[in-house]
Amino acid sequence: MAVSSLWDKKLKCPFCGTEFETTRMRTSAMKVKSKDTDFGAVYENECPYMYAITVCPFCLYAARNDDFEKVLVQYEPKMMEASQRMRKVLRKPDIFAVGTLTPETAIRRHEYAIEFSKLKNHPDLAEQAGLRLQMVWIWRLAGNADQEKEAVQEALKAYEDLYAKGSKLPEKLGEPGVLYLAGELNRRLGRLQEARQCFERALASKEIRLHPNVADMTRDMILNVKTELEKKA
Ligand SMILES: [Zn+2]
Repeated sequence: MAVSSLWDKKLKCPFCGTEFETTRMRTSAMKVKSKDTDFGAVYENECPYMYAITVCPFCLYAARNDDFEKVLVQYEPKMMEASQRMRKVLRKPDIFAVGTLTPETAIRRHEYAIEFSKLKNHPDLAEQAGLRLQMVWIWRLAGNADQEKEAVQEALKAYEDLYAKGSKLPEKLGEPGVLYLAGELNRRLGRLQEARQCFERALASKEIRLHPNVADMTRDMILNVKTELEKKA
């Protein structure tokens, strides 16, 4: 990895006001090699998912890089309360290293981001599901199959929750994309019948024509699952 792919950004925590540095990856250094069937990308060199979350080292407030400073502090009393509580904790976990991060550290940052996301005035289930899915990709890239499987289970739960209760689905995915992902995560867990049901519901969605790419992937996966089921029969 070229040293120049990472840089340290100076930030101010919107909750506790402390200034700190966090390591970011340069967009120009992100080179996608291939895409996985659950939309995760495989990168040449360093992987940007590792550097996607910013955590304040003083109060542990954590969020996606783009959202970290955008939070409207005055509307988030529960997050402020958590920030104040965490400021009093003297020993903080070792997740603030500047420079190259390990997958374990990146995962812990995601966990803090999810915890803070749950405290939002209007918790965003799509955001939480997205973070869960990114954790799947990190474990996969780290080559840790056991952790990946656990993360897939959590991500599946998050997308099922989002589909059942979410007021707004992510625009890029729409209903077909969310159902496709639920199918794909089921498939990765070996739950082929459930996977097929999700894929068929994705194709039956009224919005499917707006997502031709998802439609193609879904048809491929239905064939894939059928073949697997026949092998087992
Ligand atoms: Zn802070």
